[in-house]
Amino acid sequence: MIGEMRPRVPEGPIQDKWERHRFEMKLVNPANKRRFEVIVVGSGLAGASAAASLAELGYHVSCFCFQDSPRRAHSIAAQGGINAAKNYQNDGDSVWRLFYDTVKGGDFRSREANVYRLAEISVQIIDQCVAQGVPFAREYGGLLANRSFGGAQVSRTFYARGQTGQQLLLGAYQALARQIGLGQVQMYPRTEMLDLVVIDGRARGIVVRDLVTGAITAHAAHAVVLATGGYSNVFFLSTNAKGCNVTATWRAAKRGALFANPCFTQIHPTCIPAHGAHQSKLTLMSESLRNDGRIWVPKKQGDSRRPGDIPVGERDYYLERLYPSFGNLVPRDVASRRAKDMCDDGYSVVPGGHGVYLDFSDAIARLGTSGIAERYGNLFEMYERITGENPYDVPMRIYPAPHYTMGGLWVDYNLMSNLPGLHVIGEANFSDHGANRLGASALMQGLADGYFILPYTIGDYLAQGKLEPVDVSHTAFRQVEAEVRERTSRLLAVNGSQSVDAFHRELGHLMWEQCGMSRTKQGLENGLQQVRRLRERFWKEVFVGGKGEDLNQSLERAGRVADFMEFAELMCLDALQREESCGAHFREEYQTPDGEAKRDDARFSYVAAWEWSGADSAPVAHHEPLGFEYVHLAQRSYK
Ligand SMILES: Cc1cc2nc3c(=O)[nH]c(=O)nc-3n(C[C@H](O)[C@H](O)[C@H](O)COP(=O)(O)OP(=O)(O)OC[C@H]3O[C@@H](n4cnc5c(N)ncnc54)[C@H](O)[C@@H]3O)c2cc1C
Repeated sequence: MIGEMRPRVPEGPIQDKWERHRFEMKLVNPANKRRFEVIVVGSGLAGASAAASLAELGYHVSCFCFQDSPRRAHSIAAQGGINAAKNYQNDGDSVWRLFYDTVKGGDFRSREANVYRLAEISVQIIDQCVAQGVPFAREYGGLLANRSFGGAQVSRTFYARGQTGQQLLLGAYQALARQIGLGQVQMYPRTEMLDLVVIDGRARGIVVRDLVTGAITAHAAHAVVLATGGYSNVFFLSTNAKGCNVTATWRAAKRGALFANPCFTQIHPTCIPAHGAHQSKLTLMSESLRNDGRIWVPKKQGDSRRPGDIPVGERDYYLERLYPSFGNLVPRDVASRRAKDMCDDGYSVVPGGHGVYLDFSDAIARLGTSGIAERYGNLFEMYERITGENPYDVPMRIYPAPHYTMGGLWVDYNLMSNLPGLHVIGEANFSDHGANRLGASALMQGLADGYFILPYTIGDYLAQGKLEPVDVSHTAFRQVEAEVRERTSRLLAVNGSQSVDAFHRELGHLMWEQCGMSRTKQGLENGLQQVRRLRERFWKEVFVGGKGEDLNQSLERAGRVADFMEFAELMCLDALQREESCGAHFREEYQTPDGEAKRDDARFSYVAAWEWSGADSAPVAHHEPLGFEYVHLAQRSYK
């Protein structure tokens, strides 16, 4: 393995660790910061906040994204909100409670020290964003408003209608734009990182392709930060933007970075059900809707009456029945599995068997149409545009869909991978959410990483010196560049007959079936075989039109799908070796009598971090043991 897999969690009581660590970390003198170049790949909430903060500190930053503007990063799609332990509602929230909820919500598969720090920093994020002018929703008296998300019994979610990600991203973008204007950040939009350059065991740069001209170039730096988001699109159909992919992290993994818990993928309970074989994308209906929407199915199987014609007594509000304490606000993994069970048992309200109701009639009676419109107006509008049904009049129909990935590159407490100099932030790392992320905690994590953690920890790395000067004339850059060109030519040369999308769809379908919401040993073994066969076919039969020296979206997609095909195998392998159920990883063989996830702490209380060891040999598994000193291991209960 290159580097080490040492978590580097500071000593001392958990509430003092971060404070003490900030004091103990080495600093780069202000005048020296301008001597360091940092590459940030990604300009979503994690990348934009990091790039802006690093530049503000005085580092020279090069920031890359594949969209035409940083403002189009997938973070813009985030709807429901961002958590913070401000306790504005005076309903019993605290840093400890957010910490506890997050460790429990992740089903005890995350690192306690990181989660505590996240909860601690959450309060600063809100102050930072308010100072930037992010228009969070306010109460009548002017105070910031909150709503509830799953897995919590307090209201701690700050929001800007159903457009929280967009507003937060505008805040981060304006900070980034200021630094671009000042010349501290060089922005490279429409530029895709296709490989990582490692010299003497340290990350020293990247190789990218200009998506407009096709030019392949190398960029050197003292440190590289990946903020490249998640890989839900391995399932083809997901709530993520179509462009989200695994390429940057997977290429880094192939250069020696460990990939942690790849099988921890979140299936979100409230999405618009898939409606046909040719659909290319799924749409989320924010979890915030579960504040006021009630989930139900008819008590009678196959009941085809219109929802309004089914009397209340003949409805099964199954989450409220099964989980009286949390009701409709159980965590996502639990809500998703129960929806699937209901549909598998014949209670679906959608022809084809995949849908349950999310009903607002009680809330509308209580708050009026305008009250509901104020909270969720844009989401209702979006639902009506897609389905043709007006959710003010009839319940929404929803079903679980791939949404978020807890797995990612392994990082230590400083958010640095085992490859010295390679830092990973936001959804791209595996860090804080264990086996299941709680709603509204991804934005919190991305901004904690970018605004408040990385700017300190990267300084600690850079201040330790010992970095030889390198530039892109170094043979390592030349070699990686040649490999990128060769791979691009190879994709173009296959000249088969099947489109990239057809392969992606096939991959997604088989991953959903074998490594999706529920998994079995046999299914995963089959999945592994099928993925391998599909990958072989891909390299013989894919058709990529056009040429490399031009705008070529088919080529872009082909590279991403080729990476998904390799990565999918690792996901199945990871899911196969984890012979337990935890959070969103549900192995049918391991469940309690009432169908809840059954962990095996004695054998699997660890982070599985995989080392790539070549195309023809099995990856090597490394384990980081997890200890729970503050939140004691217990079977999760939301009853
Ligand atoms: C529909 C939807 C709604 C959501 N709502 C919420 C919510 O309400 N609350 C919440 O907490 N979370 C929510 N989430 C999750 C949350 O939005 C994401 O986890 C988070 O925004 C990810 O931010 P990020 O900065 O890590 O990555 P992203 O925003 O995905 O940004 C990735 C960046 O990396 C760049 N990139 C990727 N690969 C490359 C490459 N190879 N080369 C160059 N650039 C590259 C992209 O161009 C982009 O700039 C939601 C997710 C979805 C799908």
